[in-house]
Parts: sequence; C-alpha cells; structure tokens
Amino acid sequence: MKKIFLLTALLFMAMAVRAEDATVSSPDGKLQVKVELAGSLLSYSVTYGGKTVLESSPLGLVANYDDYSAKLTFASKSERKVSDEYELNRSKVAHVSYEANELRFVVKTAQSNEMAVVFRVSNTDIALRYELARAKNGETGAVRVMEEKTGFRFPSATTTFLCPQSDAMIGWKRSKPSYEEVYKADAPMSDRSQYGHGYTFPCLFHEGDTWVLISETGTDSRYCGCHLSDSEGGLYRIALAMPEENNGNGTAEPAFALPGSTPWRTITVGGLKEIVENTAPWNNVEPRYETKHDYKFGRGTWSWIVWQDNSMNYNDQVRFINLAKEMGYEYILIDAGWDQAIGKEGMERLIAYAKSQGVDCFLWYSSSGYWNDIVQTPINLMDNPIPRKQWMRWMQEQGVKGIKVDFFGGDKQETMRLYEAILSDADDFGLMVIFHGCTLPRGWERMYPNYVGSEAVLASENLIFGQNFCDNEAFNACLHPFIRNAVGCMEFGGSVLNRRLSKNNAGGTTRRTTDAFELATGVLFQNPIQNFAVTPENLQPEDEGGAPKASVDLMKRLPTTWDETRFIDGYPGKYVVLARRHHSTWYIVGVNAEKDAKKLKLDLSDYVEAGGTVEMWSDKSKSQDPDYQRKKIVLKPKAVSVTMQPNGGFVIVK
Ligand code: CA
Repeated sequence: MKKIFLLTALLFMAMAVRAEDATVSSPDGKLQVKVELAGSLLSYSVTYGGKTVLESSPLGLVANYDDYSAKLTFASKSERKVSDEYELNRSKVAHVSYEANELRFVVKTAQSNEMAVVFRVSNTDIALRYELARAKNGETGAVRVMEEKTGFRFPSATTTFLCPQSDAMIGWKRSKPSYEEVYKADAPMSDRSQYGHGYTFPCLFHEGDTWVLISETGTDSRYCGCHLSDSEGGLYRIALAMPEENNGNGTAEPAFALPGSTPWRTITVGGLKEIVENTAPWNNVEPRYETKHDYKFGRGTWSWIVWQDNSMNYNDQVRFINLAKEMGYEYILIDAGWDQAIGKEGMERLIAYAKSQGVDCFLWYSSSGYWNDIVQTPINLMDNPIPRKQWMRWMQEQGVKGIKVDFFGGDKQETMRLYEAILSDADDFGLMVIFHGCTLPRGWERMYPNYVGSEAVLASENLIFGQNFCDNEAFNACLHPFIRNAVGCMEFGGSVLNRRLSKNNAGGTTRRTTDAFELATGVLFQNPIQNFAVTPENLQPEDEGGAPKASVDLMKRLPTTWDETRFIDGYPGKYVVLARRHHSTWYIVGVNAEKDAKKLKLDLSDYVEAGGTVEMWSDKSKSQDPDYQRKKIVLKPKAVSVTMQPNGGFVIVK
C-alpha cells in the first residue's frame, strides 16, 4: 500500500514538472546553451569550455493579453545550421563569415498562445530572441510587451565594467538619458547602480579568463531600446525604456505586429580577443533598404570642438574649410548655430565655397521636438516629416552630404521610429547621418546604408567641459575598444593636438596625454567618418604653438575604414594594443592608462616581414621634452620593443 502510494506520488510529480530541455552548441562545441522548461518556467544556462558562464537564467515576456513567462508547456523543438557571408564597409572588419547552430524551442501558454525562443550559437556569440505567433487562434495580430523576464545570471565572483543608465530628464537642458555616464572598471556586482535604473548596453563582465559582453541588435522602429536592470543577486534582466523618458511622452512598452519578434540579444563569450573582434551586432540583421547613392566615408574638421560657439561664423567656418583642404580631409562638419549666425543664404555661399575647395559639408540639427529644453538651433525641423523633407531637399540642392542630429529623447519605441524615419528620409536625399546625444546603434551599420555613427559615449566635448575628463582620458580610451566601440561605430571627435583645449591654446582645460596617444586614438576609435579635433593653430610652426609636423603628417594620412581588426594585448581600463588593416597597410596602435610606463615586446610577424621597415610614432621618456618622436625602424628579428608612457601611446604604420 505504502509502495503504491510512493509510486503514484512520483508519477504525479513527474507529470506535474514535465521537464523538457534542449542543448545547442557552437560549431566548435565550446560554447553551449542549455534551455530548460521545468515547473512551467523557461530558463537557459551557458557554458564555455565546460565552465559556467551564465547560471540558470529566466526567459519569457509578459504581453498585454497573455503571460509568456509562466504556466508554459512544451510544444516542440528543432535545430538547424545557419550561415551567412557578408560585407561591411564602415566597421572594424570588411568581410564576415558567420556560422551558427540554431535552436528553436517552442512553448505554449495556458491560453495556448505560442512563443519560440530562438538561440543562435556561433563559436564566439550567442544571439537570442522571441518569436510570437498570432495569438488567440489567430484573432490577435498585435502585441504590447509589458515586461521582459529575460535574464543573465552571473556566478558570484564575476566583476563588471558597466555604464549606469541615467535618470531621465536631467543633464544639459533635460536631454538625458544619452549614454554619457561614467564606467566603473572591474567593480564587484552590486544590487544598485548609480541611478537605480541599471546599465546601458553594451555590458562587459569578467570571471577568471572568461569575458562576456552583452548587448542587443536589430532594434528598429518596431521596438524600444532596452538596457540591463539592476542586479538581483547576480541576475540582470532586460529592462524596457523608462516611462519618464521623452518628457513622459510615448509609451514605454514596445508593440509590434504578429507574427513578429523581439530584437536579438547578444552574448559574446571568450577572451578579450573575441570581445574586441566580435561581429555579433551584424550577424543576424538585414539591410532595411537599398540605396542608390554612393556614400563616401572619410575625415572632417569641425570648429566647434575646440573653438566652441564663438566660431559659428562665416569667417571661422572658412578657416576650417581651408584646414580640411590642407589636411586632405573630405568634410567639414558645421555644428550648432549656423542657421542664426550665418543664415540660409550665407550657408549657400559657404557650402559653395567649400565645394570649390574640394570639401563637402555636414550640417548639425537638433532632433527636437517636444522632449527637452534644447536651445541650440536649427531646431524643430528633424522631428517632423514635413519640414524635415523640405530641409533635406534644400541640402541636396546645395550639395550637402550629411547631417548630424543631436539631443534625442531616450530609448522609447517612439524615438526609435524617429531614428529610422530620419535615416530613411535622409537616404531619399542622398544624405549620410551622424547621431549625437543619442542611443547606442544596434546593428545599424548593416541595416541602414547611409548611417555613419553615433556618439553614445562621453565624447571629446567633455575634454573641454571638465579637467577631470582630461585627467581620465586615457582610462576611458582603454575601455572603448572592449565595450562601446566593440559593438558599434563611435563618433568621438577626438585626436586633439592642442595642448590647451581652447582657441590658440589660450586657457581652458589641459590635455594630459602625449601626441602619440592622440594619434593612436585616431586608429583605436573606429567610426567611418572621423571628425578630428584638429585646429588651424596646429599647422603653425612648432615654436609658434603649432603641433609637431610629424603629428600633423600622420593625421593627414589616417584612414577611417578597416578591412580587418586584431586585438594584440591589453586590459580594459589599463592599456590596449590593436592592429587595424586598411587595404594592405597595417596600423598598429597602443595607449596606456596605467601610472607607470608600459614596456611591451610585440611580435609583429603577422604584420611585417622580418627585416621590413616600419614607421613608428612613440613617446619619449618622461624626462625628455617634447614628449614625442617619430622614427623609421627596421624590424630585426621579429619583435619590436615599445614603451608607452603613462597617458602615452604609439602608432606603427606598415
Ligand atoms: Ca554629447
């Protein structure tokens, strides 16, 4: 009797739990995802070389009409191979070969609505998303996502490299959040971020010799931009945009048509090489439209970055056009205030003058609108298709090549629609687009043919705004290749050659870095159009306050698009050495944020034949003045010794 009761109880438990699982591995078998449906809850875990990367982490979402995160039952599972070969023309690498194993794990809710969780696992990256079928026997064709349960649960010894999500409606003219907060390096996991709103993508985690970079991609007008929540004992969840963003306008809950899917969340796993070289943002996204235009990337000057608001006048813009011409740069970026200071007719003359000098123009606009208190003009033109298209037509008639649009309202779906609308309209008029005061790009280099780059970082302007940022310039530079710039174009606007961050080096904040450091960031920071912070005074003779001629010479030569990128050495926040190839020329660069000089022996046999000659820009020792030297060196046998001073760096060109 007792025995029968026990058997019955066991049988009942087994039926109630109805555990079902599936495992999918990378082609090389090293990266593995296990999906589990147990106790009617869906979860997954990740191992790399047998070691736990993510502990059992929740999956699912809550829709307005049903809960896709609880009371789930198993429907089906299937596996297939996916592969893609594609070209990128504006990122860290030109040709990508992607191979992954895909698992579709399909569950049903208590109301019989179906959801697939899809995992694609390559040797270095996991992509995951939800696919929802039409619901309620096909009657429901639209979903509002009220909450995502998607989580990432890290082992307790994990440390973090995270940037907090800001409060909404704070900062300059209430224009945040804009991905312009301060990173903490190697911080222990804590349950409250600086503002209590979690962290913006991408998020870097570290445990032992394993690194994990989490981000998302494929986000367009059909979803909001998401971020990670604060941790609950090591569990971070996908958080939707915040209701207060965009001055409270627009819903925080994204909606899309059914059948449909969420954006991909990406988990890059490996050593620092895999983090720096990852292509997770582009592997699973498609171009949103074809273009008939031939967009050309390159370098630009912009007066605003060092000469500031006072330079928004006709004569100073002419000086920066002349500077662009002298540097051999393709563009001038004419920043905020041109409409009032120069006027439409003045601009037509100015643009024509630029063209006569072989220089093309980018013009600045505010994105707003009704979501912040921005006073910089032109304003109220890009938020609405009627004036937007009129001004874009005018720009096309004048031969303007692109726009820089600033001060967006946050990450709500409504704002994602505006990004896409601006990009799509701009392409109709042959205009490239740079975003500032903005969200992280999420696969946009492949999705939008006229997309150039986004700020979404504490960019070069902060060198002007505060000495503290100059003091931390090297630390921040040593984070970006591993984090922000590892997932998308970064419009930083740097490579400052002025010693003081003001016109004619007269006052203002003081640069702490060496010239070799600044030159290195011209390669280290990747954006297909680099608006460098060079100024007319940099071209004066050195004894009259100009920059060393060798620095200017290299700034004239730097390319902005790359066929290949290879991580060589480094640690986030401490130092970094990487190589980028443009056609057949390698640019090997390093920067150092540590307190002591960093001596490196670099094996460059992959880049230079033994006995080959390279050019090197490097720091002199601390006691020497100036801090900088250029030399031609012959590599013998294979290794080259490089010393990077604190706040220093080097550039090797082969
Ligand atoms: Ca900014």
